[in-house]
Amino acid sequence: MTVPITAPGSWIQKRIKEDEITKYLENGRNFIDDDLIERQIKDAPKAPDAKQVRDILAKSMAIKDLTPEEVAVLINVNDKGLLEEMRQTALAIKLKIYDNRIVTFAPFYLGNYCVNRCTYCGFNNDNATACRKVLSDDEIRQEVEVLAGKIGHKRLIVVYGEHPKNDVDYIVNSLKTIYSVRVKTRNGHGAIRRVNVNAPAFCIDDLKKINEAGIGTYQVFQETYHKKTYAKMHPANTIKGNYDWRLYCMHRAMEAGIDDVGIGALFGLYDWRFELMALIYHTQALEKKLGIGAHTISFPRLVPALNSMITPDWPHLVNDEDFKKIMLIIRLAVPYTGMIITAREKASIRNEAVQMGITQMDASSRITIGGYSDAVTAQEKNKQQFILGDTRSLDELIRDLAEMGHITSFCTAGYRCGRTGKCIMDLLRGGTEGKFCKLNAVLTFQEWLDDFGSEDTRRIGLPLIEKEINEIRTKNPQALQIFMDYHARIKKGERDLYL
Ligand code: SF4
Repeated sequence: MTVPITAPGSWIQKRIKEDEITKYLENGRNFIDDDLIERQIKDAPKAPDAKQVRDILAKSMAIKDLTPEEVAVLINVNDKGLLEEMRQTALAIKLKIYDNRIVTFAPFYLGNYCVNRCTYCGFNNDNATACRKVLSDDEIRQEVEVLAGKIGHKRLIVVYGEHPKNDVDYIVNSLKTIYSVRVKTRNGHGAIRRVNVNAPAFCIDDLKKINEAGIGTYQVFQETYHKKTYAKMHPANTIKGNYDWRLYCMHRAMEAGIDDVGIGALFGLYDWRFELMALIYHTQALEKKLGIGAHTISFPRLVPALNSMITPDWPHLVNDEDFKKIMLIIRLAVPYTGMIITAREKASIRNEAVQMGITQMDASSRITIGGYSDAVTAQEKNKQQFILGDTRSLDELIRDLAEMGHITSFCTAGYRCGRTGKCIMDLLRGGTEGKFCKLNAVLTFQEWLDDFGSEDTRRIGLPLIEKEINEIRTKNPQALQIFMDYHARIKKGERDLYL
């Protein structure tokens, strides 16, 4: 169904408030200077010497942000030995700040009506063949019963289309519905404890309403920061056609009281070097204006989609080697920021990413509307926005991570203890966040193994928990007593105990 989107006074035109753009501009300009970024990339040494690279790595290891010029130097590193040093430093930084924890979540698509016409997306308004659907309350409940009661997720990223059917009232109501579901499990009960939101670039008043419904991170990706490419990909008569409105959404979100914001670029629309530099400018602009940079950075890579204009000979598609370099440089440039790699990527790349400093992964993912339960027909399930590269179940992912020595964390304590925004960023920068997070990671991992783990996964996961408890005993003895008390209670079936 095509929704008329250009009628005066329509839903679309009322969404954009010009004063919520102009208030952030400096001398009438936004913080992405295309010419400057292109120049910084061009002027960087084509084969940086080892000393220059190692000085930059030392700065990252000291948990300091890199400048765009330093990022441009790293972009040009092609020497295999130096790339390996970059990888080792990225992993060391991740372990220093986040330890061996990987947070997992599931994407949950609630609607795919869309008023926009992004030329690379199968859900665009011009695609008359797309099956359009918005989940009802009952269908949302059915989905959450599977996510929280059968798979064992505690965190979701809920994804909404940009359309009156997915307006702010719908979003607020759907969040309440998601949080209301409780499901009995093998040894306790399951529930979604934290919902992150990926939704349109709303105005401050709407963002306040969403914040009041109790969310974790608010995500809006710029897709491409390159203005000419942006204009080509996002026709001007759509909401998304307004570059600055989207660019400043995270500023508005923070003004609306949302502490944690997630930024990202769809790598492959334009030159990855440019997008990478622009992401760094974006998080630095947030920090400069609002005192906190991005909580997470996402770097989805363009993959084929139904009715997309992106063909295999598109000039900016990112190969695996460059994609790995992107991940390394983000980890090095903003050492304390969360990094998300989704199941768009193949399992082999995601496993490598774990050794490069990423912090969050999804699993058992379904990206069709109603894809987790039987809420929709098989035909509707086949219509998805893009094709998944990693179809591992959560149980399989957890087992693979455990085999690599990584513990899966379902911790959502920070959001309920006020450890968000500047507070969590300061803890991360100071390297003290792990004081709470390791404990909560182990507690939630035990919960998950007891409620959902297969025999194979428990066989690998339970010894890992023993190892972690021994580490807590030596490294965090003052917390040992309360931790052991909570751990024993969880093993008896109590749930959601956290420090
Ligand atoms: Fe709509 Fe998002 Fe697709 Fe653009 S990318 S057409 S906003 S669903």
